[in-house]
Amino acid sequence: MARTQTFEINGRAYPITDHTYDVVVVGAGGSGLRATMGAAEAGLRTANISKVFPTRSHTVAAQGGIAASLGNNTPDHWSWHMYDTVKGADWLGDQDAIEYLAREAPQAVYELEHAGVPFSRNEDGTIYQRPFGGHMQNMGEGPPVQRTCAAADRTGHAMLHALYQQSLKYAADFYIEYFAIDLIMKDGRCVGVIAMCLDDGSIHRFRAHGVVLATGGYGRCYYTATSAHTCTGDGGGMVLRAGLPLQDMEFVQFHPTGIYGAGVLITEGARGEGGYLTNSEGERFMERYAPSAKDLASRDVVSRSMALEMREGRGVGENGDHIYLHLDHIPADTLAQRLPGITESGKIFAGVDLTRQPLPVTPTVHYNMGGIPCNYHGEVVTVGKDGPDTVVPGLFAVGEAACVSVHGANRLGSNSLIDLVVFGRATGFRLKELITPGTSHDELPADSADMALGRLDHFRHADGGSTTAAVRAEMQQTMQKHAAVFRDSELMAEGVRSLTETNKRMADIKVHDRSLIWNSDLIETLELDNLMAQAVVTMHSAENRKESRGAHAHENFPDRDDANWMKHTAAWFEGWGGKGGDVKIDYRPVHEYTLTDDAEYIEPKKRVY
Ligand SMILES: Cc1cc2nc3c(=O)[nH]c(=O)nc-3n(C[C@H](O)[C@H](O)[C@H](O)COP(=O)(O)OP(=O)(O)OC[C@H]3O[C@@H](n4cnc5c(N)ncnc54)[C@H](O)[C@@H]3O)c2cc1C
Repeated sequence: MARTQTFEINGRAYPITDHTYDVVVVGAGGSGLRATMGAAEAGLRTANISKVFPTRSHTVAAQGGIAASLGNNTPDHWSWHMYDTVKGADWLGDQDAIEYLAREAPQAVYELEHAGVPFSRNEDGTIYQRPFGGHMQNMGEGPPVQRTCAAADRTGHAMLHALYQQSLKYAADFYIEYFAIDLIMKDGRCVGVIAMCLDDGSIHRFRAHGVVLATGGYGRCYYTATSAHTCTGDGGGMVLRAGLPLQDMEFVQFHPTGIYGAGVLITEGARGEGGYLTNSEGERFMERYAPSAKDLASRDVVSRSMALEMREGRGVGENGDHIYLHLDHIPADTLAQRLPGITESGKIFAGVDLTRQPLPVTPTVHYNMGGIPCNYHGEVVTVGKDGPDTVVPGLFAVGEAACVSVHGANRLGSNSLIDLVVFGRATGFRLKELITPGTSHDELPADSADMALGRLDHFRHADGGSTTAAVRAEMQQTMQKHAAVFRDSELMAEGVRSLTETNKRMADIKVHDRSLIWNSDLIETLELDNLMAQAVVTMHSAENRKESRGAHAHENFPDRDDANWMKHTAAWFEGWGGKGGDVKIDYRPVHEYTLTDDAEYIEPKKRVY
């Protein structure tokens, strides 16, 4: 059981409590909980570490729903879902993984149903499904399909509660409000993780045969984002510090409908239920940009169209800097039944009565397509001794933190929640295959805690001239301006220069609170360290990609260039401790093959909606 020994760093003593498990999952959002449930159900001794209470993870905010080709409201087939996802990804997704996602999706949704998720229902008792952007019938031909299952507009909330209960049922141990600092690596294998209990500052060393990173996205490296303040990409930071790359970080999704000013999300389900966008002339402009899918074109297309309207002087409001979303034509009782949450958000965050007035919206940072590269079993991969798909033993990644890659250059709405459960579940299967419950552990290396404690102690006593808040704001503003919906060579080159300077300020950080008891100043600094590395990697990866694909719209290279750029970016960060901002870039090939012969490889073609 737990034993404690004392480590010394910079002359200061840190007692460390040891824990031993078969599997440790970091993160208790939808993906982390699904992996935890799977591992625990398989009889593996499983711990879950989460910096927030599980049901407060960002998944709780997911509104619109979860995609699966159940075919309850319109005809559907998994191969149509696969086609839409490949096309939505602008052919940067790995087709083996996308086939797996689309095929396993219905089963994963039925499991959620049986686990207790209170899905909205049709008259006949089947799960109700709504249309979502980019999801079509007949291999993209249309009309739109109703594929998105939902629990009103509180789908993520319902999922988290059901999955947390299931994880407890299978007796997983939860370490709640513990902050994971760094991985423990031994000869290229991940053997555990170091975490701090936020409450009392105690340090904990977890040994495990499998460590699953389920830490969510890093949306907070932008100034305005729909993601929670806790979405600081801590898993990505740990991976970069372990000397491993992150993948496709240049692809950042802007959701078309963040509430203007507040950044709060209005689900795409609003357009799924019949909502539409207008410019200052009252025109339904999406009909011009996407004649067939219109307001339900994929997110990158709608966000770019909105940005163009505003740029050409047809934005609404005094500064022409937003667009109207109309739901005022939808019967009030339909809104109350299908979109109660956003009706409330409209009132609170924009002072608008959605049944009578349009809502001011603007494209807002929402999702990170990029992340920790892994295969469809959740195993982390790197460019290494076995080529570009070299598995990093002991290390797994799931959810928004991961890049499987099923979303490629642009994710379709409701495809993240399904990604969480399909790959959370797949990771559980893989852990069961790889690990025999109760297998003994090797001795840990003597320096196993050095990196984590070194960083912790360094920032705890940091006494420079730049507050964490000031450096973070500078980083966020730079990202907001230089890695936005439209990008050009000059803007991104300037972004790289300017972030390099901001990164140098990490050497000059000032932390005021030196205690270890609920030290939010210190935790925010550790989070900033993670965010900064990913901001720099994102900026460099964007500057490096000389084409336009999905969410990456490069004005100097307006076309997709499959001959030169149909490949994943792999980027390593080398600028720790404020030392410049160097990033090393390499590539991994896109998997241009399917998983089985049941699916046909989907040849690249021009993406129109
Ligand atoms: C407002 C909003 C609405 C959305 N709506 C939809 C939707 O309708 N459909 C859809 O498909 N997608 C939607 N998305 C996207 C989707 O919800 C997210 O991508 C997904 O929920 C992420 O889940 P996750 O399991 O990867 O991580 P999260 O839910 O973000 O959870 C991360 C977990 O990691 C833990 N963690 C992080 N760092 C550490 C650390 N250092 N130590 C310990 N624990 C740590 C946190 O405590 C947390 O438990 C939405 C996103 C937002 C922001």
